[in-house]
Amino acid sequence: LIEVKNLCKEFHGKQVLKNISLDINKGDVVCLIGPSGSGKSTFLRCLNRMEEANSGEILFEGTDICKKDVDIDVHRRKMGMVFQQFNLFPHMTVLENLVLAPMKLQKISADEAEKYAMSLLEKVGLDDRANEYPSKLSGGQQQRVAIVRALCMKPDVMLFDEPTSALDPEMVGEVLSVMKDLAKQKMTMVVVTHEMGFAREVANRVVFLDSGEFVEENVPYEFFTNPKNDRLRTFLSKVL
Ligand code: ATP
Ligand code: MG
Repeated sequence: LIEVKNLCKEFHGKQVLKNISLDINKGDVVCLIGPSGSGKSTFLRCLNRMEEANSGEILFEGTDICKKDVDIDVHRRKMGMVFQQFNLFPHMTVLENLVLAPMKLQKISADEAEKYAMSLLEKVGLDDRANEYPSKLSGGQQQRVAIVRALCMKPDVMLFDEPTSALDPEMVGEVLSVMKDLAKQKMTMVVVTHEMGFAREVANRVVFLDSGEFVEENVPYEFFTNPKNDRLRTFLSKVL
């Protein structure tokens, strides 16, 4: 689904991503972990070109989306993105937040967009909050709405950047459980996270990023119980 080849990115002459290659197949749940500043967010943002890579290729469904003549909006619509901060529009109700993009970008009728949004809200247990404003919801509820908003576009892949890091501890579980359900439904997901339990249980591959390099990649069990690289060992000894 996504093939990243030799991706490099620098900010002001500092190399933040060094020759990164990664294949993401349909149905994969890939967790990216690594220390602060290692380039996790930058990598994710390069995937939908919110950040422009300096060199390398990103083949998304066969198209190199790094090429200048590509209409990135067309591809971006197929990539749902969820951030640490929920980024809902504060002056719109939950439902208005959800139907905005499908109606505007996909020309879907209000009726149909609302129906679909409501069905997804129901799945995350928030259909009774459809007409509330985001500020009336808890952080965990807002993040679930943010996930639903991305899903309303029927994306082919979901990109998550530390979706639970801004939440109070008691709300982390409800968001992870929505993500777990998505994984069960075979949604392709790339997840930057510090939730090692989630990575272990839900990911089919875990990647360790350190100083802009992909240091190690493995299936979760091997990754956590038998890390090969010293830097990963040191990192795991601190977080586990
Ligand atoms: P964290 O776990 O803290 O979110 P991260 O792994 O997501 O960290 P990035 O945000 O990708 O790390 O940052 C990687 C490096 O790139 C850091 O050194 C950061 O200071 C730098 N960086 C990121 N964005 C920019 C920018 N817009 N301009 C300049 N430098 C940047
Ligand atoms: Mg980050």
